[in-house]
Amino acid sequence: MTKQIVFAVTLLITLGVFAFTLKRLIALFRLTKPAEPLGHWGERIKLTLKVAFGQTKILRKPVIGLIHALVFWGFLVITVGSIEMVNDGLTGKERSLADLGGFYDFISASGDVFAYIVGIGIVIFLIRRLFLHIKRFYGKELTKKNKMDANFALLLILLLMISLAGMNIYYVAGNHGELAGIYPVSSHIAGNVTPSHFMHEFFWWMHILLIFFFANYLPYSKHFHVFLSIPNVFISNLKPLTRLPNIESVTKEVKLMLSGNAFQETGNEAPARFGVKDVEDVTWINYFNSLTCTQCGRCTEVCPANITGKALSPRKIFVDLRNRMNEKGLKMIKDKKYDDGKSLVNDHISYEELWACTTCNACAQECPLNISHPNLIMDMRRFLVLEEGRAPTGINSMFANIENNGAPWQYSPEDRLLWTEL
Ligand code: SF4
Ligand code: SF4
Repeated sequence: MTKQIVFAVTLLITLGVFAFTLKRLIALFRLTKPAEPLGHWGERIKLTLKVAFGQTKILRKPVIGLIHALVFWGFLVITVGSIEMVNDGLTGKERSLADLGGFYDFISASGDVFAYIVGIGIVIFLIRRLFLHIKRFYGKELTKKNKMDANFALLLILLLMISLAGMNIYYVAGNHGELAGIYPVSSHIAGNVTPSHFMHEFFWWMHILLIFFFANYLPYSKHFHVFLSIPNVFISNLKPLTRLPNIESVTKEVKLMLSGNAFQETGNEAPARFGVKDVEDVTWINYFNSLTCTQCGRCTEVCPANITGKALSPRKIFVDLRNRMNEKGLKMIKDKKYDDGKSLVNDHISYEELWACTTCNACAQECPLNISHPNLIMDMRRFLVLEEGRAPTGINSMFANIENNGAPWQYSPEDRLLWTEL
């Protein structure tokens, strides 16, 4: 009974902290703008099964992709075991899902095998991060804190797997002949340890406390993608990557002009902002993307602007958005009009970075979570052009020509057919 009470109190504290984080996140999302409606649910489910559950984009890198995919699939299976542990903790039972029979054998066996596979995978990830100096893990947007966060989260997962394996080994060692479930790897090791109820309880508590801590640490870490990657793929762009959404109010104006009703009273108010200047101008999907971004650098690795030495790193766009939301958004929750005199564009993301983008979409194509960078970059450029009148010289002359000549060329419309007289 004491164990149940201690467990229930620990669970309540965990849920309380999580509820606080959730409330804060909801308040931050409330600051953002609506995005294009989602729709196409069937297509979205198919995409999620393929890209998120099937890990198709990750598997394009066969070796490291397979290790990552195994870690992901392992997490899915192990989560069922974690739910069982919560039930065990509250009811005082042991292996309470054992009544599921054959299905339980499957879950316990795959969970046991995956504990070791995930553990080995995490050791490989840690070695890569700490000793192999892979280029995409570096960049000006990744501070020492970002790197420590990545290594700390990996270490937590490793401890989670060690405690799970330890728990299984001592469970098998202490329950010969009346085992619930199957433990293919732990059974082999269990023969070499002395049965110990204390060690089983130690690993049980270690595992569940690590799960509780991990669940509350993730929303503040780059590893938030453990929770968000599946929904992020679900809400991702289904349209061709090269399509850029228009600004609705501008589209309406253009349509009116083309129809010859330019001066018709539409009743539409001019938007408070053209494009994106700061966090309150981004859509909820942009912000969701920034929370999901794993900072893996696959986008930056393939960006032609970055490769050719320009200031742009597509990963930085989302790292900066998340940081700026923490900097300004948290203050805006308390005071909606809060203004620190800075903005996402210009103070965090520079003119040079934004105009270095070729809109080739290699970043969006490569991102394993289907994050679309060019859409956000274009919205920031729209702010620079429409509100600050800042565009590269070549584009400015094109704008002037369109305004004066109705076409991007330097000729007046009357002279357009002069070439036929040559
Ligand atoms: S779309 Fe822009 S940011 Fe993305 S890869 Fe191409 S140049 Fe880089
Ligand atoms: S945007 Fe995508 S590819 Fe780029 S760092 Fe984030 S998760 Fe990786």
